[in-house]
Amino acid sequence: MKIYKKKKSNIDKNGMGLYANKDIKKGTHIIDYVGKIITKKQTENSEKFDNAKPIYLFNLNSRYDLDGDVSWNTARLINHSCSNNCDYEGKGLKLWVVAIKNIKKGEELTCDYGFGYDADYKQFPCKCRAKNCCGYIVREGSRWRIKKQKKLINNLSQI
Ligand SMILES: [Zn+2]
Repeated sequence: MKIYKKKKSNIDKNGMGLYANKDIKKGTHIIDYVGKIITKKQTENSEKFDNAKPIYLFNLNSRYDLDGDVSWNTARLINHSCSNNCDYEGKGLKLWVVAIKNIKKGEELTCDYGFGYDADYKQFPCKCRAKNCCGYIVREGSRWRIKKQKKLINNLSQI
């Protein structure tokens, strides 16, 4: 029995997600993140990656990227959450998804997509519904910038 299963996502209403099929202990290797290994040059020359934040593109090292946008990469179905219970790990040219919390059977598996905070952040709203959700898909280390901006806007509207 696999420890995860595919199901309609609670976060991405139009898409699928992965769910824990049993209780999963923190530290468990859940699934490999697979795809095509491509050179940085291929990434640069590809129209597919014109978007500044390609969701399925991973930096492996100074020469290679991994394009996970392939049908056989089940791990691509994992959605982003501001309170993620999984994270990506890698070594060499291999990537996988690991549980960073104890996860209960039936919970949706989530990662931090790691997007930086920049001018485009509003293009990627987050619907994870976590208590700490900042409203956009932005990596944890950068979310304070959005909170700060919200505060600024609130303060301005009170003047
Ligand atoms: Zn969120």
